Amino acid sequence: MPKTQFDLERLIVYFQGKFRPLGQCRIHPLTHALHYGTGVFEGIRAYWEESAEQIILFRVEDHYRRWRANARILDLEPALSARELCEVTAEVIRRNRFRQDVYVRPLIYHSRVGIGVGYNDEADFMIVALPFGGYLDSRQGLRVCVSNWRRVADNAIPSRAKICGAYVNSALATREARRAGFQDAILLNESGTVSEGPGFNIFLVRGGRLITPGVTENILEGITRDTVLQLAAREMQMQVEERAVARSELYVADEVFFTGTAVEIGPVVEIDGRSVGHGRPGKVALELQRLYKEVVHWLAPAYASWCYPVFVSSSRQAATRP
Ligand code: PMP
Repeated sequence: MPKTQFDLERLIVYFQGKFRPLGQCRIHPLTHALHYGTGVFEGIRAYWEESAEQIILFRVEDHYRRWRANARILDLEPALSARELCEVTAEVIRRNRFRQDVYVRPLIYHSRVGIGVGYNDEADFMIVALPFGGYLDSRQGLRVCVSNWRRVADNAIPSRAKICGAYVNSALATREARRAGFQDAILLNESGTVSEGPGFNIFLVRGGRLITPGVTENILEGITRDTVLQLAAREMQMQVEERAVARSELYVADEVFFTGTAVEIGPVVEIDGRSVGHGRPGKVALELQRLYKEVVHWLAPAYASWCYPVFVSSSRQAATRP
C-alpha cells in the first residue's frame, strides 16, 4: 500500500454501527478473529473522475453480494443488505471529502473475547476507505515466479471467500517471491494446476483465446476476472475458456496477465526467468487495460450500471453519465 499522506487517526470509518474517527476505534486483544483468522473481508475500488467531479465505486453491489454470500461460510452475516452497504460506503467516502482514487476495505469478523477456537454469534464489521493509487507497478510488465507454496485447498480453507486466515498462504507466497527478487508469485494447487496469485486471478492468451483457471481451481471468484471475461467476449469478440491450466502452459503462453481490484490488469512479462511472449506487455492485456479504465471511470455508457457515483443519491446509480 502506498504511504498515506493524511492523518489516519482522523479518517472516518464505519465501525460497530457508527461513523467515527479511526483513532477512536478499539479492538480487544483477545478478539477471536485476531487469534484465529475468523474474518471475511472485501476489497473495492472507487475512482476519482475529474471530468464529472465524481468518485465512482466500481461494481460495489456485486462486491457486497459476494461478501455477504461468502461470509456465510463462516456463519457471519452483516446486519445490512448489499444495497445498504453501498450507501454506507458512499457516505464514508463523502464524510472524508476524498477527491482521489479510493480503496474500500470492509471486514466482518468473529468478535468473541477469550481463549478457545470455537466461535459464537458475536460479530462486528467495519468499512474503511483510504486514498489509494496503483498496487503493483506493472507499466513495464511484472516479473514473477511460481511459488513453492501451494494454494490453500477448498476443503481446508475455501479460497473463494476472502477469509482472513487464508491470507497467510498469500503472505507466505508474496514474501518468498520478493525475497527472491521477483515482484510477485503464482500459486499452484496441490495437484499442480495453476490457481491464482496471492491477491489476483490469472489469465493466459494462447492463439487468440483467453484462458483462465475455472472456479473449482481454489480461486477467489474475482469481480475483475468476471469483468475481463465479459469485456473480452463482448468488446473484443474473443473466445474465452475457464478450465484447468498446467504450469507449463504459463511458459508457452503468448500473454499472461493478472486481474484484481487492487492490481487492475497487470501484464506479466517474465515467469521463472522465462520471457512471456515477446517479453513486453501484450496486445490483449493493453487493450483490456484501456477498456477497463474507460469502464471504471464511468465513461462507457454500456457499462454504466457497474458504476455507483458517490456524490448523487443511490437511486441515480444506474443512470447513464450526465
Ligand atoms: N484472488 C485473490 C486471492 C484475491 O485476494 C483477489 C482480490 N480480491 C482476487 C483474486 C481478485 O478479486 P477481485 O477481482 O474481485 O478483486
